Amino acid sequence: MKVLVINCGSSSLKYQLIDMRTQEVLAKGLCDRIGVDGHFSYKRQNETLIDQDKDIPNHEVAVGLVLDALKDPTMGVVASLSEIGAVGHRIVHGGEKFCQATLLDEEVIDQIQKVSDLAPLHNPANIIGIRACQALMPHTPMVAVFDTAFHQTMPQKAYMYALPYEYYEKYGIRRYGFHGTSHEYVSHRCIELLGNPKQSRIVVCHLGNGSSITAVKDGKSIDTSMGLTPLEGVAMGTRCGAIDPAIVEFIAAHEKMDVQKVLNILNKKSGVAGLSGVSSDFRDLESAANAGNERAQIALNVFAYQVAKYIGSYAVALGGLDAIVFTAGIGENNVTMREQICQSLAFLGVELDLQKNQVRGQERQLSTPDSKVKVYLIPTNEELAIAQQTMALVR
Ligand code: ADP
Repeated sequence: MKVLVINCGSSSLKYQLIDMRTQEVLAKGLCDRIGVDGHFSYKRQNETLIDQDKDIPNHEVAVGLVLDALKDPTMGVVASLSEIGAVGHRIVHGGEKFCQATLLDEEVIDQIQKVSDLAPLHNPANIIGIRACQALMPHTPMVAVFDTAFHQTMPQKAYMYALPYEYYEKYGIRRYGFHGTSHEYVSHRCIELLGNPKQSRIVVCHLGNGSSITAVKDGKSIDTSMGLTPLEGVAMGTRCGAIDPAIVEFIAAHEKMDVQKVLNILNKKSGVAGLSGVSSDFRDLESAANAGNERAQIALNVFAYQVAKYIGSYAVALGGLDAIVFTAGIGENNVTMREQICQSLAFLGVELDLQKNQVRGQERQLSTPDSKVKVYLIPTNEELAIAQQTMALVR
């Protein structure tokens, strides 16, 4: 079966067509600046065949461009759209309603709409993407794969905030967590590498532009660093992570801003970018720090410290630690950052093999044979995970 994976944002649409027999990505690309002016890219295998400005007034036009390219006689990868067996949609927020991938019908779309309050920028865009695909592929089954679903196994003590209880009841204010598809995919692979034990205590560090850490016990998420929104947790590229909530009012008063503006700063101008004043990209930060930029070094130190602190606290949540997994852009590629994080965890019995750690983007055990806690690099693949869950449901 060939599965089309769609990740729709308010002005963008990322897509991949995956052949599930071989797990090969047949084609992928991005529609960007939808509703503004428009840019379209299309890659077959790894060859870029289209990369051009194109008028894309709405998401339906974007889906149309994607489908036209996929079935184009010269550039395409399918003879007709009927070869696409299913579409998997990445949905950011499933609230408490969805604890697994779900076949899409009107009722499910309605439920996704109902939890839009929790992700006002993302869920409505996801629904637009679903509608656009339905309009052009009315007979193809579609599946919603939720970023929050894997974390629905968290116990109450992990997901409740110490706020007046009625805010949870009235508005659903609680920890939901994100990157669930990635945490699930990577932790299940880790369990395989551990030899499929019945019991396992794993901390997954998904460190990318957005970063989240998850405690996974016996294959289930029991705590995670992101919260009601992806703003909580460790410092990220441009997000501040967990801070004293009173800072919001303090900045608002001193900078004469409303709450929306302050939140914009916490989301887009903070994190390692705000701290360093250099960049949100860890490659830029490393070169700047190596060239003596003090603030870039501060940003790297803060990030490493916060990640290590989460791992330590999750060792408590899990009652011990069998493995730590690094994944996503920084986790898979930043050798120095992995070393810096693991250094502070030596007391837990974490012993990184510095030679083995010299690797990027490939699955590998990074710890020494004697290390009490195993450390792995496991590349994430959210699109493949979405396609697998989609196929499993459609079958
Ligand atoms: P997103 O959350 O947008 O998916 P990514 O997972 O791609 O982000 O992570 C982006 C981060 O990963 C950047 O800070 C970047 O520096 C880092 N990164 C990505 N690729 C590499 C690489 N080859 N070498 C070092 N760092 C990398």
